[in-house]
Amino acid sequence: MKKAITKKRLKKITLLFIPENETKVRKLRLPIWAIKAIFVVFIACISFACLNIKESFKYKAIAANNNKKIYELTELNIAQKKQIAKLQDSTVVMKDQIDDNIKVLGEIKKSIGLANTNDSFDNAILSAELSLPEMISEGTNSPSDMSNEIVKINISLEKLSEKTIVQKEEIKKSMAPINAKLAYLRAVPTGKPINDSISAAYGTRINPITHRGSEFHKGVDLGAKFGVNVYATGDGEVIFAGWNGGYGNVVIISHGYGFTTLYAHNSKLLVKTGEKVKRGQALAKTGSTGRSTAPHVHYEVKVNGKNVNPVKYF
Ligand SMILES: [Zn+2]
Repeated sequence: MKKAITKKRLKKITLLFIPENETKVRKLRLPIWAIKAIFVVFIACISFACLNIKESFKYKAIAANNNKKIYELTELNIAQKKQIAKLQDSTVVMKDQIDDNIKVLGEIKKSIGLANTNDSFDNAILSAELSLPEMISEGTNSPSDMSNEIVKINISLEKLSEKTIVQKEEIKKSMAPINAKLAYLRAVPTGKPINDSISAAYGTRINPITHRGSEFHKGVDLGAKFGVNVYATGDGEVIFAGWNGGYGNVVIISHGYGFTTLYAHNSKLLVKTGEKVKRGQALAKTGSTGRSTAPHVHYEVKVNGKNVNPVKYF
């Protein structure tokens, strides 16, 4: 019996509502299952709310993390853009330098009459595949990692660096014929030994001493004041410096390449046999020694042992 009463009591719960300004008390009788249902719904609502709050915090954390990453990427992007611009500048400067070197080398060869024999080298340089990325203007693109562009530029720079090594070797090779040509140009008799006009030309003429009969004048006479410098007309070696009969005090230079020059009637010699001389170096002082009637320089040019008209080389 007691057990049955307990069971009956637990089946329903009565809620009393007592309003303060009313006398009537309101009753609400609810079965126990309804109370349980309300409790379950209440717990479900609380759990849902808690879950939402937790998710909200999670998304906020993710958003904050993303913002941090975007900020870091933007910073990296700015630094990379600067690096790329710098590398691109370096690449352009290096390429221009290579092109300039080719031009200068070509001009040197042209100026000394050498053919440009390095066509394949020139073409190889000019067609160098420089796959430079487009110039990137700062702030216009969304931030992104541009490591690939930097790698591409570095590859271009490496290619250019290899080209400069090839160019250096080619320039070295080119220097041999250039130096040979320059040595030839320095040696070939050029210009007059003194800056005076011709007083007697090369070729057949009346004997200047006896004024009778003709003779072959093997050089040109350049009228000069006494005691002024007589200059070498090309690089070479003095093969004779001394007295030689009608030439008086004479200097003979061998220039190589079959050329010799002779400077006669000097009052004083400034070089010795065996001495190496450069174009423009003073060899002697003008005079009138030997078969001469007045101070002048008798100047001869020989090619492979045969006298030629020196005027060809003035
Ligand atoms: Zn003469």
